[in-house]
Amino acid sequence: MSQIHDRFQTTIAGSLPKPAWLAEPNKLWPAWRASGAELERAKRDATLLWLKEQEDAGIDIVTEGEQSRQHFVHGFLEFVDGIDFSRKVKMGIRDNRYDAMVPVVSGPLRLKGRVHEVEARLARGHTGRKLKITLPGPMTIVDTIADEHYRDKVKLAMAFAELLNQEARALEKDGVDVIQFDEPAFNVYLDDVKRWGIDALHRAIEGLKCTTCVHICYGYGIQANIDWKRTLGGEWRQYAEIFPALAKSRIKQVSLECINSKVPIELLKLLKGKDVLVGVIDVATDAVETPQQVAETIERALKFVPANHLFPCTNCGMAPMDREVALKKLRALAAGAALARKKLGNRGQSPISAKSRRKKTRR
Ligand code: ZN
Repeated sequence: MSQIHDRFQTTIAGSLPKPAWLAEPNKLWPAWRASGAELERAKRDATLLWLKEQEDAGIDIVTEGEQSRQHFVHGFLEFVDGIDFSRKVKMGIRDNRYDAMVPVVSGPLRLKGRVHEVEARLARGHTGRKLKITLPGPMTIVDTIADEHYRDKVKLAMAFAELLNQEARALEKDGVDVIQFDEPAFNVYLDDVKRWGIDALHRAIEGLKCTTCVHICYGYGIQANIDWKRTLGGEWRQYAEIFPALAKSRIKQVSLECINSKVPIELLKLLKGKDVLVGVIDVATDAVETPQQVAETIERALKFVPANHLFPCTNCGMAPMDREVALKKLRALAAGAALARKKLGNRGQSPISAKSRRKKTRR
């Protein structure tokens, strides 16, 4: 087993492809291959498989690969009372970027019980590495559901934030080290982020002592997103609108898209004081990055993010990807971080540890 690193600790946005025996491969909304107890066993097997693959690839902060959920938003909604799944309506989501059939909020929201207890405890019991579990963010949930009860976006978001907080507190007790909220909607509703999006996140992390993170990306590598990105022009400046507000927030880490994107790299400096999970692996292409490409992206980001705050990561989840490609990308991520550590020598060290190192050598 590879060792844990003290800088440029690698992690992934969250999801990994489901093996073909668990669910239809290469799909964002895959059908499960089994049901009942057999499906539960298959989810368990897939979770253990990906934990091992991440460890062997050299990923420092691992996830359960979201093997137990069909979709990153609906995997949570299934456990919420007050939602009518029998009635799905067509809704334009992410500011009408694409249509989705979404369920309807029809009454007061309540959790039916634990959401990710089984997979969190399973993963905790089988890895000594830091463990991250992802949850959908309140704003992204509100953007992926119709509402006939609260009839107010902010009230609905706060109601979901309260449920997310219940599950997050329980995950912390399960031994989870990092809880990440996925908020692709943050890149779309820039004013709402400042008006109530960050408040809703604060409600979701209330009372947590573990590390908290928010993932903000330009979406999976699906056609609707690729087409949308073409309309965003030569420079993607959405992060410039929201990062200053996020820098002032109580969220500790921000996961963002970097490699192959048109995000101006200097925008990373707007996240002063935060851990920055820099996307050094593109999930919108099957071309596997070389360790050199990964190391170069780390070096570019290092001009704007101190080394002790820089965590090489994937641009987004790898759920819809080919399994072999995802595995190769995990290895490239770890190899690239290793190369960056080697190339940069002590240059990437934080000032404090550099100072204490000098003291040690004097003695
Ligand atoms: Zn993403």
